[in-house]
Amino acid sequence: MSGPTDQQRVAIVTGAARGIGAATARRLAEDGFAVAVVDLDEDDARGTVQAIEGAGGRGLAVGADVGDADQVQAAVDRVVAELGPPVVLVNNAGVTRDNLLFKMTDADWDMVMHVHLRGSFLMARAVQEHMVEAGWGRVVNLSSTSALGNRGQANYATAKAGLQGFTKTLAVELGKFGVTANAIAPGFIATDMTKATAARIGEEWESYVAKRAAAIPVQRAGRPEDIAHTVSFLVSEGAGFVSGQVVYVAGGPRN
Ligand code: NAP
Repeated sequence: MSGPTDQQRVAIVTGAARGIGAATARRLAEDGFAVAVVDLDEDDARGTVQAIEGAGGRGLAVGADVGDADQVQAAVDRVVAELGPPVVLVNNAGVTRDNLLFKMTDADWDMVMHVHLRGSFLMARAVQEHMVEAGWGRVVNLSSTSALGNRGQANYATAKAGLQGFTKTLAVELGKFGVTANAIAPGFIATDMTKATAARIGEEWESYVAKRAAAIPVQRAGRPEDIAHTVSFLVSEGAGFVSGQVVYVAGGPRN
């Protein structure tokens, strides 16, 4: 095994104050990583760090907008100084600005590209040097089943499809340095993001979940831990020959 075996490996999870990112940060800490919990607001990120520390792990709350190059560099520099050089990056931060095409504003489009595409690019560019230096690294990008096309999500579907191309290109460029890059495309996961979707279309959360679950082959909504489990696999030592893949974690082939 190559890489920093004599010290604790460091992971960065973006958008980890809540939802899928928080579950992933907690899981990677359980797996033995020191975890930087990055989110827009440092105070919001502290809850996840407290959960990590409460379970005996090591975490650091970092406030940064992943779409801002200066904030990203400052965040990565802080992680290096306070936890050590990061060798795992989970690009999870995300937003939705759903609307039908004819009603979608320029700002709706730009915000979604800013967070998902520019954010993942800036984070990966800032972190890659530490992975290359270590001769070992793992990048996991959060795509979505919406990448296959979804009504009201021209912006989000485009960004999530774009992340799949980004992932495959990172796999090609960074493979020779011991770095893998993969994407996870979740289906319907119960989080604040999907609660906001239910609210936007005027549906009660419980009935919305029941309706969505009925259309999923395994007949339930996804949980943040379902995605965290898949991240845990993809960043594991044994997954070193899995790279450039998109894993649909959706309770079925594409729901
Ligand atoms: P969530 O509950 O809305 O959490 C997203 C987190 O990202 C929030 O803490 C948010 O901070 C943070 N964030 C937003 N913009 C950011 C920025 N510019 N810089 C740093 N952090 C930022 O979402 P989720 O449901 O857990 O989703 C996590 C990821 O999975 C997203 O990429 C999403 O697109 C993807 N995904 C989710 C589902 C699903 O069904 N839930 C399905 C497919 C894919 P604030 O709270 O301050 O806004």
